[in-house]
Formats: sequence, C-alpha cells, structure tokens
Amino acid sequence: MSVAVDLSSEECWALAEHVCRACLGRLLVRRPVERCGPWVYRCSNCGVEAEASGAGRPPICACNMKVGRKDAGIRCVRNDRPRPELLCEIVAREIP
Ligand SMILES: [Zn+2]
Ligand SMILES: [Zn+2]
Repeated sequence: MSVAVDLSSEECWALAEHVCRACLGRLLVRRPVERCGPWVYRCSNCGVEAEASGAGRPPICACNMKVGRKDAGIRCVRNDRPRPELLCEIVAREIP
C-alpha cells in the first residue's frame, strides 16, 4: 500500500513564530503563491485557520488576546529558557 502525494500541490506550510490564542499550539503559515494572495495561518494543534493580508500578526495568535476591548498585553515570544514543564519553542507571555 502506498500513500499518494500530490507533488503538484503548492501547499507548503512553514512554522510561524506565533502560537494559537485558543489552545497555544504552534501556528503554521502558508505564504501566497502569487504576491497579492492572502497569507493563511493554521493552528497545528486545533486546526483553526485564518487569512491575513500580509506578514503581520496572525489574526488567531495569542498577540490578539483581548481583555474586554483592550489588548491583553500578551505576545508570542521565543522561549529563551525551556524547562521540563514548558518545552515549547514559542510561548505566549505577558509583556509589561
Ligand atoms: Zn489552536
Ligand atoms: Zn502572536
């Protein structure tokens, strides 16, 4: 038995430097094949997907967490001190 892989597909996901605001899973990003196309972000964990117009903040990432209408001050950052209980490369952290 073999698994058919469609090599003609342009789908190519890269790891984004952001985590999902719903589950804190790592986000993937798919850049547009044509320059004008939307960027598609997808959570590698829960599968939520969203489009963005450019390489800014993904609409579904933890940077967009809000308290009421205010920015909650959470940003996706690199985990500079990975610990056994927090091994994720990118973590959501409160920024003062
Ligand atoms: Zn998620
Ligand atoms: Zn983010």
